Amino acid sequence: MAKVTEKSLKARCTELNMGPLRNTTFGIRANRLGAGYTVELIYRDNTPPQILVEGVAAAEAAAAVEGAAAGAAAVQVAGLDKPEFVTRDTFVRQAAERCPKCATKDIFPAHLSVEKGIITQKCSCQRCGLNWNSIYRLDDYEIAVTAGEV
Ligand SMILES: [Zn+2]
Repeated sequence: MAKVTEKSLKARCTELNMGPLRNTTFGIRANRLGAGYTVELIYRDNTPPQILVEGVAAAEAAAAVEGAAAGAAAVQVAGLDKPEFVTRDTFVRQAAERCPKCATKDIFPAHLSVEKGIITQKCSCQRCGLNWNSIYRLDDYEIAVTAGEV
């Protein structure tokens, strides 16, 4: 195997990101920080990166990159490349209007409970049957304006 350099590592990551990892939920990134290399998974939504190895030698970083790519390929073959549930960020972006598993809007919001500025609402999905709690946090207040005061 050719000697691994920072350049060859980055090129390999780009190659994987544009190729085998293209349709997965993440890409891979290798960085040289001082004497060691860091390899991390970068998710395509806002999930924070997951560090695979840190402060390792170039050859070890290369092995981590290949390992992640091989794992992703295996997962794709198994048809599980999409995580089962959406991330918290996605759920919030969708304003809690969709099932966190199957994404339908056909959900049934039920009982609300309020405790110390946090409202928890039990929800269930009419399509896939998932049950979850949507959590709302107190944000602000607004003075009510009654007619005649304006
Ligand atoms: Zn569902």
